[in-house]
Order: sequence, then C-alpha cells, then structure tokens
Amino acid sequence: MSINFGKAEFIRSAGAREQFLWDGLPQFAFAGRSNVGKSSVINRLLGRKNLAYVGSSPGKTTQVNYFRVDGRVYLVDLPGYGYAKVSKAEKERWSRLMESYFQEAHITAGMLIVDVRHKPTANDLTMHSWFRETGCPEIVVANKLDKLKKSQIAPALALIQETLELREEDVLLPFSAEKGTGKEELIRLLNAAAE
Ligand code: GDP
Repeated sequence: MSINFGKAEFIRSAGAREQFLWDGLPQFAFAGRSNVGKSSVINRLLGRKNLAYVGSSPGKTTQVNYFRVDGRVYLVDLPGYGYAKVSKAEKERWSRLMESYFQEAHITAGMLIVDVRHKPTANDLTMHSWFRETGCPEIVVANKLDKLKKSQIAPALALIQETLELREEDVLLPFSAEKGTGKEELIRLLNAAAE
C-alpha cells in the first residue's frame, strides 16, 4: 500500500550524534542550501502549510529534523547550508553534524534540492558526493521551476545534470513547491524506494 504522506508528525530535532534516530524505519533525507525551498518542498510533499518551517532565518538552525510519515518512514530534514552570513563556528558545527549523520547513515533515498535556475554550488557537490558514498538512490529535485520560461527549462536541467555528473540511474526531477509540479512523481519515486 502506498505511503500516505498526508499523515506526518514531527518527532524530534537532533543537534548531536546521540540524538540521531536509527530505528530501522526507512529514512528519506532532504538536503539543500538555505533558501532553495527545502522546507517548501517538504511541506508540499506532506500537503501541509508549515510543518517544516519556511523562511526561518537561514543558517540559524543546525538541526536534523525528523518527521514520521504514515507510521512507516521518516522524512529527515537535514540542516540547510551555504548561507553566507553564518559564522565559521556554525559552519564547522554543520560539517561535524553532517559527517556524523552520513557516517552512520542508512538512507533509503536522498533528495538533493537545487535551484533549477542556478548551477549547483560547491556545497551542493559536497552533499551530492556524501549521498553517493552511502550508496543510496538519489533524487535531484530541481525546485522553483515556475520561475523559468519554457525555453529555459531544458538548458537549465542540462547544466545541473552536467555539473553533478548525473548517471543513468540518478533521477533529476523538475519541481515547483509553489505550484506543486513534480509532487506526484516524487511520491511515486519515494514509494518505489521504500519497497
Ligand atoms: P529553505 O531555506 O530551503 O527551507 O527555503 P524555504 O522553503 O524557506 O523557501 C525560500 C523562499 O523560496 C521562500 O520565499 C519560498 O516561498 C520560496 N520558494 C520555495 N519554493 C519555491 C518555488 O517552487 N517557486 C517559487 N517561485 N518560490 C519558491
């Protein structure tokens, strides 16, 4: 039976390794730089307005947030990165937290959220390589599709594909959290990954 993404509950925030949850349920991890629309993508997927907090001051929350969906899987909201005004100490905290998350990770699927209008950043590439190292299937969600004209879409997707050196088995999903474009496909892909 397919996962009911409408049935989601916040479980906990983890700011340190001891607080991570590895209880055997599949984990879908969502990563992206600050302001890329990660919270909006998650809220769109869950059909909620603000379960994941949209527009929280970027970089302030170096926490891994867990939501349990349909009692069957976790949606894991990894802390955003790449916000210029964050202190060096905060960046280091982020790196340490992510390294410990990825060291132990049993990720069922990794979602790398990028902005369809921009070439993926160095930080996006780092996150991408961490997902690859775990061996989990990765879905690159190219968000903010509504901001492009039709004629701009194919070249924008090609640039992302090239920069991230996506392979046959990698999925690049055009998405708009604003409009809902790509939601059904994401749900289909996540259901397939959880099987
Ligand atoms: P986060 O920092 O990655 O969690 O980003 P947010 O979800 O807070 O979104 C950052 C900003 O981008 C907000 O103003 C959102 O309304 C906007 N946004 C997010 N997704 C989309 C989208 O698909 N299209 C458009 N036009 N705006 C979006």
